[in-house]
Amino acid sequence: MTESFALSAVPSGARDAVLKFYFGPMDCGKSTLALQMNYNHGRQGRRGLVLTKHDRSGGPQVTSRIGLGLDAIEVVDSLDLVALVTGHDRIDYLICDEVCFYTVDQIEQLADLVDDHGIDVYAFGLASDFRSVMFPAAQRLFELADEVCRLQVEVLCWCGRPGLLNGRIVGGQLVRTGEQVVIGDTDASPVRYQVLCRRHHRSGLLGEGTF
Ligand SMILES: [Zn+2]
Repeated sequence: MTESFALSAVPSGARDAVLKFYFGPMDCGKSTLALQMNYNHGRQGRRGLVLTKHDRSGGPQVTSRIGLGLDAIEVVDSLDLVALVTGHDRIDYLICDEVCFYTVDQIEQLADLVDDHGIDVYAFGLASDFRSVMFPAAQRLFELADEVCRLQVEVLCWCGRPGLLNGRIVGGQLVRTGEQVVIGDTDASPVRYQVLCRRHHRSGLLGEGTF
């Protein structure tokens, strides 16, 4: 029998901070959950920052389809998230909405905040773009996060199947090429997005009355 070694002692009371990624298609309640999470942590006396990028409101806010909203910090590509957080007095957690639009460097910064600064990071976003290809930031989160959760609030395709993928519609047609990030669903934009099941994302059938 081989000699056994005791595991080194774990410091008592230590809890590692966590990096969690919640993903799902449009309309599955990501921003609503982000706001609820912020409320719950704040109520326990924890201090957090709420970050977003390209929110549907067009401003630095997290807004949800069901009408909740909160002022937030807009994450531009040049923003160093470690510098942002360490520039504050005391931060316990971050709520990062629309995280799929962050840069890959910023995802690394989130991991640094968790590991080096003990800050909990709760990230929310789409996994894949209108082509069903993963966003680089989402891919990095899949690789680095402690936990990845597909949100279960069900969004349905027009056919009634679970909506898993985001289609980009221009002029009534599903498109499969173009820039990865185009803001749509605004009065000024000819682009809109529709959640589709895999079958109809692949076939491009959009159903009746959806034009
Ligand atoms: Zn369908």
